[in-house]
Amino acid sequence: MDKPAFKLFTPPQEGEKITLNSDGTLNVPDRPIIPYIEGDGIGPDIWRAAMPVFNAAVKKVFGDKKKIVWFKIEAGEVAGKKYGTVLPDEVFDIIRYYRVAIKGPLTTPVGGGYRSLNVTMRQKLDLYACVRPVRYFEGVPAPVKHPEWVDMIVFRENTEDVYAGIEWEKGTEEAKKVIEFLKKELGVTKIREDSGIGIKPISEFATKRLMRMAINWAIKYNKPSVTIVHKGNIMKYTEGAFMKWAYEVAIQEFRDKIVTEAEIKEGKSAEGKIIIKDRITDAMFQQVLLRPKEYDVIITPNLNGDYLSDAIVAQVGGLGLAPGSNIGDGIALFEPTHGTAPKYAGLDKVNPGSLILSGAFMFQYLGWDEVKKVIEDAVATTIKQGYVTYDLARLREDAHEVKCSEFGMKIVENIEKM
Ligand code: NAP
Repeated sequence: MDKPAFKLFTPPQEGEKITLNSDGTLNVPDRPIIPYIEGDGIGPDIWRAAMPVFNAAVKKVFGDKKKIVWFKIEAGEVAGKKYGTVLPDEVFDIIRYYRVAIKGPLTTPVGGGYRSLNVTMRQKLDLYACVRPVRYFEGVPAPVKHPEWVDMIVFRENTEDVYAGIEWEKGTEEAKKVIEFLKKELGVTKIREDSGIGIKPISEFATKRLMRMAINWAIKYNKPSVTIVHKGNIMKYTEGAFMKWAYEVAIQEFRDKIVTEAEIKEGKSAEGKIIIKDRITDAMFQQVLLRPKEYDVIITPNLNGDYLSDAIVAQVGGLGLAPGSNIGDGIALFEPTHGTAPKYAGLDKVNPGSLILSGAFMFQYLGWDEVKKVIEDAVATTIKQGYVTYDLARLREDAHEVKCSEFGMKIVENIEKM
């Protein structure tokens, strides 16, 4: 891709772009340029805390050999005021060009022509997988007896399902037309005239590329299993097909690396292989709670994934420390999982943990796994020492409540002491 002519945002003078190798993996230079969006509401607060953590961790691991060259770009309310649009086209060009970016939360303008800025970004950049790693940090109040048994990563399909945005309000011409078509042309008799209508497309293409990503992850990080979560017993040609296509990818493209649960029951050995299993969604909600040790990599359609990832995150203490990302082929956008929490904006109060851990996950995606480890270890130490923001402090009697920026500073101190 030729360098687009940027007009609104000026790239830094130093640093280089990340490129793709011929096998689709990333080629990350020693000084990669990473675009970032501070975001709205508490966005600037959490960035002020997170940026020093990222820089300190890279320095700890690589000294002066490597560093991130940050490139600030704008979207959301700030962009709306400055450029007259909350999502300037250039933001997409820049993320496509530099390939890996990280953002804070964005306010979706009410009546602004967007369902959600985040959904728009995912769809426009074809970031087809919402990937959320979930693990426990000691000292975080959690509702289950053994939160440390949770170590999962959820690959949620991001572009299809009822989230594709194909729906019509009750009583509109469009809804009436669809109902009439279904009745007349397809003999569907069960739809009431006063229904709103939503369409749930799930394709072979989108399912298979997601499964490829999940299995490749399991191979790279030695994960023992990949579980396909679906509601195929009821929705056979969407969720059921999702399961079927996911198994097809496993068997046709990764035969020597995987074994299915059914094959194990027939006597095949699982030795050195990734076990591919599937679970019906409602059963899976129980399984992750009752037998979390049995689940590692999870792949699921959009709606199931929305619910399931939040439920798993709740097991380890909630969204405050949950990293998030949206990943496509050779392109990725990392982001905290919470919103803009406008009532706390500018108060230097909220927990920056979700952004900090999203950054850690970004470093892992760049292949800088050591940096990820340094950040996670320092976050773990800081929480264990009792230094936490208000959201965790209100749940812990032994806590030293600190401000958002102080939490970041404590993490930096712990990195420097390593
Ligand atoms: P929210 O911003 O996530 O805030 C809901 C509550 O969650 C807050 O009041 C606070 O709870 C807690 N919280 C959120 N972030 C926190 C943090 N970093 N540390 C500690 N506590 C935190 O959700 P919302 O109020 O529903 O949404 C507000 C705006 O954000 C909306 O415009 C929405 O569209 C947008 N949004 C954006 C994204 C995104 O950009 N990815 C995601 C979700 C929502 P307490 O009041 O109990 O302290």
